[in-house]
Amino acid sequence: MTFPHLPPEVAELRDRTRRFIREVVIDAEPAPGGRLDQATRDRLQVAAKEAGVFAPLVPKEYGGQGLPIEHWSPILQEAGYSTIGPSTLNCMAPDEGNMHMLNLIATEDQKKHHLAPLAAGEIRSCFGMTEPHPGAGSDPAALRTTAVRTDGGWIIDGHKRFTSGAVGAAFCIVMARTPSVGSSPEGATMFLVDMTNPGIRVGEAIHTVDRAIDGGHPHLYIENCFVPDEAVLGEVGLGFRYAQVRLGPARLTHCMRWLGLARRAHDIALDRAGKRELFGGPIDSLGLAQHLIAESTIDIETSDAVITKTAALLGTDPKAGSAMSSIAKVHCSEAIFRVIDRAIQICGGDGVSDGLPLAQYLNEVRPFRIYDGSNETHRWAIARRASAGRAAAVRAGEQYRGDAVVGRHGGA
Ligand SMILES: Cc1cc2nc3c(=O)[nH]c(=O)nc-3n(C[C@H](O)[C@H](O)[C@H](O)COP(=O)(O)OP(=O)(O)OC[C@H]3O[C@@H](n4cnc5c(N)ncnc54)[C@H](O)[C@@H]3O)c2cc1C
Repeated sequence: MTFPHLPPEVAELRDRTRRFIREVVIDAEPAPGGRLDQATRDRLQVAAKEAGVFAPLVPKEYGGQGLPIEHWSPILQEAGYSTIGPSTLNCMAPDEGNMHMLNLIATEDQKKHHLAPLAAGEIRSCFGMTEPHPGAGSDPAALRTTAVRTDGGWIIDGHKRFTSGAVGAAFCIVMARTPSVGSSPEGATMFLVDMTNPGIRVGEAIHTVDRAIDGGHPHLYIENCFVPDEAVLGEVGLGFRYAQVRLGPARLTHCMRWLGLARRAHDIALDRAGKRELFGGPIDSLGLAQHLIAESTIDIETSDAVITKTAALLGTDPKAGSAMSSIAKVHCSEAIFRVIDRAIQICGGDGVSDGLPLAQYLNEVRPFRIYDGSNETHRWAIARRASAGRAAAVRAGEQYRGDAVVGRHGGA
């Protein structure tokens, strides 16, 4: 994997991460369809700390590598080359997105009690936004969970589902609808709720096709749940804004990790295509197979390019970066799926068997077209931004008028 203009220390961390994943982590992977067990996770995390590759995105003051966003991709792609790499390196969803947000908006006390142990890999966390019908899903405005003021704090009531990582998590960042309080607007607020709070309970498991995220995606019941004022994360009423602060980078890190897995699938397919002989030569000498290989190489490189641009924008112009992250999410989630699907095709029957991990890889990446905003929701937003951007440019005196050209030629 080549990246232009990497500073030497980032290139060195990338190489170290690559060696660690390939020499230590891959050997410990569970069989296709299995999950990383806690003891193996703990052992690998100790080894990752010793190898100096643990928590690449976490600030140095919390024991991480402190990488700036524009250099996340080469490292996360190396981590994602193994399905258990991101968990091992403590850069897996949802903890990674939660740590990013806590670092930006938590109080010093919240950082001490929640960010520090999360960064050290001592605890896990979850993020509770999605609810059953008719609550929040693609449309966050449908949020039904409520928090109302009481003496010294808030009472939260609601029902969440698809709460990744909730089994075994130490705390959940709960999104709840809140009324206007003082100068704070009516809207949504984020709360840090310890999972030992008697008002929160992990419910039924939801069995999905993926296996890489520790702690499942269960229902979460929040009933008469008291939290003190200190549990408010950021400011009251700004929860939807903070969700975007979290989601812009979080959906991009999913692109980075899953692109690493697509590279692994492509390598498996290339190795197979170079060795397996059909019709007098290896598969990779056959034109239609070369087409599959070329298309996957193009999907990998275009994903890499769009990630690099989005990361650079998020580091310099968060609003433009957040808009670009929609494009990156749609492109990468579909391109990555295609790469793994083609790898399966090239490997023939073995591709869909548990002799190879490819079918499980497909299961890992398929939900990515649904979470972090479904691809339809993003396409809708991308189209509206494109139309609004063009209308604004015309209003501002843009010289070239496409509709005038059509008129000149008699088309309109
Ligand atoms: C594996 C996995 C992990 C998850 N982890 C978490 C988590 O940790 N925390 C959390 O809060 N949530 C999580 N989710 C939930 C996820 O964010 C939601 O599934 C997602 O937001 C879609 O909401 P929904 O499932 O309610 O589908 P709905 O909101 O019912 O949407 C269904 C479909 O409607 C279509 N659609 C949506 N918008 C438009 C549009 N504008 N135009 C046309 N069609 C549209 C899309 O095809 C979409 O898939 C997870 C989901 C999965 C599958």
